[in-house]
Amino acid sequence: MRKIYNFSAGPAVLPEEVLQQAREEMLDWHGSGMSVMEMSHRGKEFTSIADKAESALRELANIPANYKVLFLQGGASSQFAMVPMNLLGKKGKADYVNTGQWSAKAISEARNYGSVHIAASSENEGFNAAPPLEQWRISPDTVYVHYTPNETIGGVEFQWTPDLSAAPGNHDNIPLVADMSSNFLSRPFDVSKFGLIYAGAQKNVGPAGLVVVIIREDLLDIAPLAGTPTMYRYKTHADNVSMYNTPPTYAIYIMGLVMEWLKKQGGLAVIEQRNIAKAKLIYDLIDTSSFYHCPVNPADRSRMNVPFTLSKPGLDDAFLKQAQAHGLIQLKGHRSVGGMRASIYNAMSLEGVQTLVTCMREFEKNHA
Ligand code: PMP
Repeated sequence: MRKIYNFSAGPAVLPEEVLQQAREEMLDWHGSGMSVMEMSHRGKEFTSIADKAESALRELANIPANYKVLFLQGGASSQFAMVPMNLLGKKGKADYVNTGQWSAKAISEARNYGSVHIAASSENEGFNAAPPLEQWRISPDTVYVHYTPNETIGGVEFQWTPDLSAAPGNHDNIPLVADMSSNFLSRPFDVSKFGLIYAGAQKNVGPAGLVVVIIREDLLDIAPLAGTPTMYRYKTHADNVSMYNTPPTYAIYIMGLVMEWLKKQGGLAVIEQRNIAKAKLIYDLIDTSSFYHCPVNPADRSRMNVPFTLSKPGLDDAFLKQAQAHGLIQLKGHRSVGGMRASIYNAMSLEGVQTLVTCMREFEKNHA
């Protein structure tokens, strides 16, 4: 058993069983005489690892057959460019929902490639809420709508999947694009409601270096913008089963182990219940205390990233020191917002969250 609880926003805690298995297999994977890191990505050993990782993901997320799963590199940040480069097509116009710092990055990148319309924004609420669908104004000529289901820094999470056909206005059946980096596989979700989903691996899925893309096949027929590099074309990777170049092999292997771990836990519905229970422990404490504060609208609070402040900011360092003494690390809030942030992804145990809550109570008693 490890002695610390790691609340990092990403790279983040991984299931201990996964790390142990990786350790056992480090020098000699299944009698192959090789570490996974040493295998040819085209060899039969690694091909079986990648196939298994994909099929476990497909099973867990119930991914329909008309969606491709791609294992790419460049982080979720490269998807901020890859999405518009591949999907804007001739119309050149996309709608974005602005709910905080990560959507803002996606928006500013998309503006390099076409015209961006902000369909909804929570800016007037200080980016502390998810704009309800009734407020969305989708342009009639948009080619996709992009949103960020979980804002990792602001701690705002959509508890619902937008049904664009029910959004106000006169628009066609438009693909929904989601940056699911920080809540991917934390709950069941209906892939068929999306045109494209992308998620950096380093939160709920595995090590940094891998980004998972799930794309509906018909979107691969859109011609990418002129000048789109070969590596930035989804079709390149779809046509080559993510083996156009050397993929991030070790990250894919660890992701496969995390998928097996998730299956063993009982799948996404079970993980969701655990995530609800963990988040509730912290939010309940915050809501019954005048010492801790969370700025996010209660209905839109993230189950993955819990930002909170102390009523006396001068105590931040003392809080972090006490937390460290309890074995609780990486609780400092994002540099842009300050305060604290507890990231409680799938692999964070209930005991870890209970220990945090006990520590918070004790700190409040001694300092309120
Ligand atoms: N989107 C979201 C929601 C994120 O949380 C992050 C990383 N924290 C990113 C995008 C960027 O990911 P990467 O660092 O993998 O490019």
